[in-house]
Amino acid sequence: MKPEIGLREDVERVLIDEKVIEKRLDAMAEEIDREFPPGPIVAIVLLKGAFVFAADLLRRIPRPLDIECLNVASYHGGMESSGTVKFLDHALPDVKGRHVLLLDDILDTGRTLKAVADRLMEEGCIAVHTGVLLAKDKVRAEDVQADYVGFEIGDEFVVGYGLDYKGRYRNLPFVGVLKG
Ligand code: 5GP
Ligand code: MG
Repeated sequence: MKPEIGLREDVERVLIDEKVIEKRLDAMAEEIDREFPPGPIVAIVLLKGAFVFAADLLRRIPRPLDIECLNVASYHGGMESSGTVKFLDHALPDVKGRHVLLLDDILDTGRTLKAVADRLMEEGCIAVHTGVLLAKDKVRAEDVQADYVGFEIGDEFVVGYGLDYKGRYRNLPFVGVLKG
């Protein structure tokens, strides 16, 4: 049985196809590898949404990586940002004196990337470089940009490739929009 049976029928339209994502990740990985200072990178993956994107992107970066995960929540399961970013872990990864590549699935209001980047700077890292698979084309609550963006999309709710609706659809291999 294919894992996505019972999922695809809820999808109204595919926004970004698997093959297109893969090609874009090749270019992003090359850009990151070219622009980061030499030496090992600390990659911090925001869970759960960024796990698929990060797995595919980081395997394309041919240098030593210290991969850490951070559990944060901002949506609490629905379709609207709650406006607060909750850190769900007891401790943050050790980033003192390091360059960090912070990865999230999507840049929406900007609150998540801003809150996490600020915290990591407080922890004493040298710089936080941010990467997202998707960035919504909208006015953000926080004045943040991502250094590396896979795709710009419109201001609509998307699922798949790590992104969920009420915990589901993360395992769709593409980014799509659900039926209304
Ligand atoms: P921000 O803090 O920038 O508003 O939102 C970032 C987080 O909100 C993402 O990590 C993601 O979990 C969630 N999010 C924002 N937009 C979408 C969307 O269109 N679909 C899904 N599934 N999650 C989203
Ligand atoms: Mg989410």
